[in-house]
Parts: sequence; C-alpha cells; structure tokens
Amino acid sequence: MNPLAQLDHKYIWHPFTQMRDWLRREPIIITSGRGAVLRDVRGREYLDANSSIWTNLHGHNHPKINAAISRQLKKIAHSSALGLANEPASLLAKGLVEVANPLRRTPRLEKVFFSDNGSTALEVALKLAYAFSRRAKKIKNPKFLSIEGAYHGDTVGAVSLGHIDLFHKAYGGLLFKSDQVMSPYCYRCPFNRAKPERADARDYRKCNSECVGKVEQKFSAQKKRGNPFAAFVFEPLMQGAAGMIPQPHGWLNRVSQIAHAHGSLLVADEVMTGFGRTGLMGGKNNLLASHLEKVQPDFACLAKGLTGGYLPMAATLTTRKIFNAFLGEYHEFKTFFHGHSYTGNQVGASASLASLELLEGEKSVRARQNLEEYMRDELSSLWSLPNVGDIRQVGLVAGIELVKISRTREPFALRDRAGIRVCEAMAARGVLTRPIGNVIALMPPYCTTPEQLKKMVAVLHQSISKTLGNKPAI
Ligand code: PMP
Repeated sequence: MNPLAQLDHKYIWHPFTQMRDWLRREPIIITSGRGAVLRDVRGREYLDANSSIWTNLHGHNHPKINAAISRQLKKIAHSSALGLANEPASLLAKGLVEVANPLRRTPRLEKVFFSDNGSTALEVALKLAYAFSRRAKKIKNPKFLSIEGAYHGDTVGAVSLGHIDLFHKAYGGLLFKSDQVMSPYCYRCPFNRAKPERADARDYRKCNSECVGKVEQKFSAQKKRGNPFAAFVFEPLMQGAAGMIPQPHGWLNRVSQIAHAHGSLLVADEVMTGFGRTGLMGGKNNLLASHLEKVQPDFACLAKGLTGGYLPMAATLTTRKIFNAFLGEYHEFKTFFHGHSYTGNQVGASASLASLELLEGEKSVRARQNLEEYMRDELSSLWSLPNVGDIRQVGLVAGIELVKISRTREPFALRDRAGIRVCEAMAARGVLTRPIGNVIALMPPYCTTPEQLKKMVAVLHQSISKTLGNKPAI
C-alpha cells in the first residue's frame, strides 16, 4: 500500500464514512488538480463530477484565484475580525450585498456576518432569527419550519433544522424540535395519481398543488396554537442532500408568500444553490436561486462556492431591521454573541472576490449557459436504462434516481448500496462523484468542457448498466 494511504488508514477518520468499509481498500489520494480534472498519487486522472462535494465553481488551480491568494499572502494571511477590520473582507461584503440585491427587491440584504462553513452560516441565521423574534416580535418560544428531508449542516442547531433521520437520529437528545412540511417531491408525489411512466412522458396534469396547500395548513395550524412560526428555512429550487429534489416552478414563490403572510422570516439556505449553480433563467445577475423564483429572503446563507471552492468560508446576509435589533448600549447586552477565530479571513475573502469577478465575466456566463444545455441533452440518454427512475436537473445540478423497477418506481433498499456501487464503478472509470442514497449527483465545475461532460454521463451510463444489470425495461 502507498505510504500516504497507510498514514491515512492509521490516523484519519473520514466524514460521513463507514470507516470499516474505508479501511478495507486503498484510498484514492489526490495530489493535484486543474480545471475539472483531479490527479492522484499514481498519476491517474479523474473528472471531478461533483465539484469536490459541491464547492468548486471555476475549476481547480484557476490562475486568477491562485494569483489573488498569492497577492494576499504577500500582505497577511489572517488577522482577527474581533476588534479589527480588514480590506478583503470589507470589499467582499460589499460584493455580496450587490449579489444579494440585484433587482431592488425588499427586504434589502445589507449586512454580512462571516463564518467558516455552511453549517455555521445556518447556525448564525438561526440564532439571529431566534433572538430577533424574541426581542422585536416578543415571541416567547420561536419555532422553526423547514422542508421534509431538509439538510442544513451538521452542527447541533443546523441538525435541528434538518429532517434526515438516518443521519441525525443518533443525536436526537441533543437537538431542539423543529417542524417540517412536505417536500414537493414530484416523482414520489402522494397526490399525483398519474400512472407511473417513464419520466420523459411524465404526467403532472393532475397536479393541484396539494403540496402548497400543505404549507398553508401548517402555518395556519401553528398560528391557531398561538405561536406562529418565527422562520421558514428552505433550500431554494433544489433540495440537495434530500436527494436532489427540485421544486416545481412557482412553488417557492407561493410558499414564501404564505410564510410572509403569517409573519414568518425567510431563511434561504443557498449553501449549495448559490453563485449560479441553479442556472441563469433570470439573467446573469441572478446568482442566488431564490431570485429565480422572485423571492427575497430575510437571510441568505452562503458557503461552499463562495471562495470558488478553495477555502472554508461562509457568509450570512441579513437586513438592517434584524441588525438594528442588536444595537444598544454595551451594558444592555444586545450584542450578537457569536463568532469564530477565522471570521472574515483575508485569504478566503481574496479568493471569494476573484471568484465573484470570474462569475460576472461574459465568457463564464456563456460557458455556464452552454454547459447547462449540453448537460440536459447528454443526460437524456440515460432514460433508456431500466434502472433510471428519474432525471432531475436544475441549472448545473443534477440527480439521477436509481430504482429497482422503473414502471412501479420501486426503490432499491439502502442495504443494496446501489448508489455506492454505481459510484465505485464510475471511479474505476475515471469519474468521481458521491451518491445520496439511490440518487447519483452530478454537479460539474463551470469550466467543464463538452467532451468532459460527455465522458461523465457516458461513464455513469456504463456504470449503471454494469452494476445494476441492463435488463429490459419492466
Ligand atoms: N446546507 C446545505 C444546503 C448543504 O448542502 C450543506 C452541505 N452539503 C450545508 C448546509 C452544510 O455545509 P458545510 O458542509 O459547509 O457545513
């Protein structure tokens, strides 16, 4: 075994990984990357088909981001935001406020709280919404509503907002209780009685938006209990870790209006969807998925792609109204008592500024547009596979749901490890991604070439056939 693999096996505990499985085989050890390609210690190359767990935007080793980081390193790597300001963080905050307010929508998001990752971005929004609701709205015991299957991170507050029992039931006693409302998971909709068909012939005509009605019912029932939801927390357009579940057009807009009508704050978890990942439908200035549904939240949580996928950094944007509720004399102790050692880190902020600049360039906008269309065309080839139940694409995010029998939509049992086996077969063919249960996620970096995308999908096609058996459609 490679000596680095030995070190890994001896000392490292990997995230979201059954370490018994891990220790059975030699890991892929990544030593370098360029564009959409990762290279391992043995010189083998792989396509990074999930953008290194949904973080990378412009490709690895990007000359402009590298240069921005090098320039910053010649000055300073880090000084604390507790008691001190710095140039890149201030410039980045200004840039993010521009991103968050493209159409003069209200409420304006004009204050930026930096932290380290997606979980902390949500943790910050949660605490701010909680304290604001108690302080300004006099709600004694603020309650939160989020979507079935939601995932908002792994810190205890963020886990409490989530609803993936498989991950989180072990910590039940540590969590506070939040409520959930049904996800608009069209492929497994309990109301749409349309005969299961190949999804390219999907029949949603019988849809009466019952899922929107469920949201209305939730808010009304909670109001009757005399304690309306303080905040509604959502991933806009596409729920990621729930299994790449897209929301039908108009759903988010309608449920946001319901939430607002009940006086609830909106917390948009844009950790996965932010920075153009969900496409350009509304024009190149819409870098947040919420804006594509004409929704302006009270909080926008950003992480993953913020630095272009280079460094751990996050931001929670909010309104002046929320900010003002924390103003007071020192002795009133209205201060927001929260912060991290690396808050507002200069290197991360410099990388983020370079990434924002790249996002706005005409070339990058056109490339993303083309790649999105190309991806749609390529993915359509997968419908011919009997184990492909659904193909869901929003912008440059796709989820391919594997099923035992496409006609009945019967799922694989998790113990069948269908998703894991397919991804292992893909890795052996030079394409890296991770499954979400039985859903294969594809999320290429924006710099991916058409040939590279073609290879990602061809390898997925081969791996599904090979692993799950290419029996004729039932
Ligand atoms: N929110 C969403 C929507 C996510 O997808 C993730 C991570 N997959 C998080 C929050 C947590 O982010 P992090 O892993 O950076 O803590």
